[in-house]
Amino acid sequence: MHLYSTLTKTTEPLTTLHPDRVYLFVCGPTVYDYSHIGHARTYVVFDVLAKFLRSTGKEVFYLQNITDVDDKIINRAKEEGISQSELARKFEREYLRDMQALGINAVSYYARATTHIPEIIDQIGRLLDRGVAYVTEAGVYFNVDTFERNGELSGQERAKRVSRVTDESKHNPNDFALWKLGEYGEYTWDSPWGRGRPGWHIEDTAISEKYFGQQYDIHGGGLDLIFPHHEAEIAQMESLEGKHPMVRYWMHTGFLTVNGEKMSKSLGNFITIRDATKTWKPDVLRYFLLLSHYRSPLQATDEGLANAAKRLEHIRAIAQEDMGPDIFGRKAFTEAMENDLNTPMALATIQRLAANGDIGALKEYGKILGINFLRETSAPLSVLQEIREELRARKQFEVADLIREKMVEAGITVKDRAL
Ligand code: AMP
Repeated sequence: MHLYSTLTKTTEPLTTLHPDRVYLFVCGPTVYDYSHIGHARTYVVFDVLAKFLRSTGKEVFYLQNITDVDDKIINRAKEEGISQSELARKFEREYLRDMQALGINAVSYYARATTHIPEIIDQIGRLLDRGVAYVTEAGVYFNVDTFERNGELSGQERAKRVSRVTDESKHNPNDFALWKLGEYGEYTWDSPWGRGRPGWHIEDTAISEKYFGQQYDIHGGGLDLIFPHHEAEIAQMESLEGKHPMVRYWMHTGFLTVNGEKMSKSLGNFITIRDATKTWKPDVLRYFLLLSHYRSPLQATDEGLANAAKRLEHIRAIAQEDMGPDIFGRKAFTEAMENDLNTPMALATIQRLAANGDIGALKEYGKILGINFLRETSAPLSVLQEIREELRARKQFEVADLIREKMVEAGITVKDRAL
């Protein structure tokens, strides 16, 4: 497998820290609202990555955090007149429901920020001990000047890398909060520096250090997270004991866009997964999202989705009779997937596999991509077929023929295999 890393800006062979085991961390959602199909794009990509790696025999520990303490959660809970935890639990459930609806089910473990407060406090304490963080009357901050490799991931000039948070007590505008002092209602915890809550970046490194250690294989997320989020994660984790690199493969998905702009809640140009699945089947949505390479931007349009639906239907129409393995088609599929997860190329080979009747490959690859490439035969029908075959094998042709007659009467085509 070869993967492109944002850190080195090159495509490199995947060598993992532990043989045959891949540690994959992907930034999870901030659970304050329903997820949209932009989120779906990112999570479908990493779902396919984990499933493909597993299909090659690797054990994949796929960890995802859930950001359940955040300004947006505090504000939305206030608006709705419910507690922060009620709001966060509600949208966490909705998120998981949406993921399930799209067949996104490769995550090994979901870790909530609020259930890792001791780990977060412990990590902040070690950063203070290292002298890379400082305490002010407003909170604990990471001093970015102590970290030499700062800016390597985003390649941004120092002057442009200013933290969004303007806070007079910071020594340097680039510094970012590890712990925010204050009373924030339900989600406020005691800490050695006073009551408060964690900053956004520290939850991910506290969680990933707990389950993976300070170094692991792949870190993923959308393009928008490179700066400041992932840049901050590297500074935090690598400052603990100087282990470098924290992660070898930084994978970033391109945006799902609407009229050239990122689909996002704040721009109001989003379609929730829930609404999208009312019009489009989950298979079609996944097919549409995977028709573009994960690093390219992808325009969300009705025509694009309709085209995906048509192409998928075409594959199902031509994939009829089982004609055995198509070795070249299979090789092409694997090569495409191994080439930085080139799903558009992989889907092109699916078309070939369908035309050549490699039903086995279509089933197997369908599981990796989470798309059913075969016409659905309903369960009762296939049970009937099986019973008929069994009867014929036992030479009870009369009953078998009777079932066949009834099936044909009901408009079902029945093909008999040679005995
Ligand atoms: P958020 O809940 O906003 O933190 O987003 C969760 C994940 O979805 C992050 O990895 C984002 O980068 C990703 N994401 C959000 N919007 C889009 C989009 N329009 N296209 C692709 N990925 C997105």
